Amino acid sequence: MTQSKATMGIHDRQLHVFFFPFFANGHIIPTIELARVFASRGLKTTVVTTPLNEPYISRTVGKANITIKTIKFPSPEQTGLPEGCENSDRLSGMQIIPFLKSTVLLRDPLEQLLQQELPDLIIADMFFPWATDSAAKFGIPRIVFHGLGFFPLCVSACVRTYKPQDKVSSYTEPFLVPNLPGEIMLTKMQLPQTPKHDAEFTKILDEANASELNSYGVIANSFYELEPVYADHYRNELGRKAWHLGPVCLSNRDAAEKAHRGKEATIDQHECLKWLDTKEPDSVVYVCFGSMTTFPNAQLKEIALGLEASGQAFIWVVKKESSENEEWLPEGFEERTVDQGKGFIIRGWAPQVLILDHKAVGGFVTHCGWNSAMEGMCAGLPMVTWPMYAEQFYNAKFLTDIVKTGVSVGVQTWIGLMGGEPVKKEVIEKALKRIMVGDEAEEIRNRAKDIAQMAKRAVEEGGSSYSDFNSLIEDLRSRTL
Ligand code: UDP
Repeated sequence: MTQSKATMGIHDRQLHVFFFPFFANGHIIPTIELARVFASRGLKTTVVTTPLNEPYISRTVGKANITIKTIKFPSPEQTGLPEGCENSDRLSGMQIIPFLKSTVLLRDPLEQLLQQELPDLIIADMFFPWATDSAAKFGIPRIVFHGLGFFPLCVSACVRTYKPQDKVSSYTEPFLVPNLPGEIMLTKMQLPQTPKHDAEFTKILDEANASELNSYGVIANSFYELEPVYADHYRNELGRKAWHLGPVCLSNRDAAEKAHRGKEATIDQHECLKWLDTKEPDSVVYVCFGSMTTFPNAQLKEIALGLEASGQAFIWVVKKESSENEEWLPEGFEERTVDQGKGFIIRGWAPQVLILDHKAVGGFVTHCGWNSAMEGMCAGLPMVTWPMYAEQFYNAKFLTDIVKTGVSVGVQTWIGLMGGEPVKKEVIEKALKRIMVGDEAEEIRNRAKDIAQMAKRAVEEGGSSYSDFNSLIEDLRSRTL
């Protein structure tokens, strides 16, 4: 005799989990990788998204047993945004604020789905603060996924609670983050909110924080051995309920999964791998600033010249279309580097994890988005840290000061947003050499390789992240018992 879902106890039936990622590839990718972890552990897994985000999701899902359900994105009349703006990729400048605000209109369709399917849990992005109340209507717990590790979560919580930034007299005066192990110093220019942000953005972040406090807990994209002090601090001192289930990028098991994440790569992956195969181990530096960062031409030129001057082979990802004019390239640069087999430029989207995991890659210049930082750590790479915005300055500090696998390029402020001088080629050259050649590079690389080993152990059966997954499931089952 088969039991209906209603009569079967939560302890003896397959649990069903909804995932609701924010519409940006830096959020979609780790959320789907997390969903893959749940699917691989035998849970029924459903991802909710909008029609124009569906291709990014299905590409990342790959062969995993995950159902995708779509709900309609509000119309341009409702949002004031141009037609087709369903992903942050399609936005320019401060359109992000109306975009974030318009997602509240998804509340009704999401609630309809929740009512129909009655999942046991919804894991929703921090940018959907209203999802906690939506889920509560149906007695469903909501967990927040920011895609971050414990260190940035702790820094954010301490800055928000103690407001040390209110006690300094300028945007550049350093302050100590209170009640945080490790004497972490920051300036106001390194916080997720800068003077360029208006009250509306602050309000959105406040709402996100409030909904996090009311939620069932937080999932960290991290593993215990990487940051035990901050994992303990977050739970025990700051009193937050959290599970560490990462690194989620390790759910990409084969080349196909590593190559198809988020957007379609703008190069032939085989051509890129063939080029890497011709290089010595640890000899190529990979340069990429995440899914959204763009630089002015003056900065791109300095990066090109710094790469060339460093003498290192490189793969450089530039968020430019190949159809755009190429004023950002110094004269004769491609002839002297790419044509000589010393460099590879990807204009658009790179298969990042596939590249990072190739044995020829020996260093990573990163904007320190947490996903990139984690992917670099999992690949055992020394990194040049070049934070740009959001919580990236926190992540950069983690790499340079806590795990000590990063070397700072020296940026101190949100230069992308605030203007300012580009980082000069000499500075870039020096940072590249520090992570690629000599005793310091070797020392950093050894540390980085140890971290990569620990990461792999954490997600294997019996590892800390594997076990914390069991704790989460036990919590969920006992909740309803
Ligand atoms: N990414 C990629 N190819 C690119 C740029 C980014 O695969 O050309 C992926 C990268 O591997 C990471 C995500 O996009 O998983 C970016 O997330 P991150 O947190 O590093 O930065 P964000 O884009 O959110 O600033």
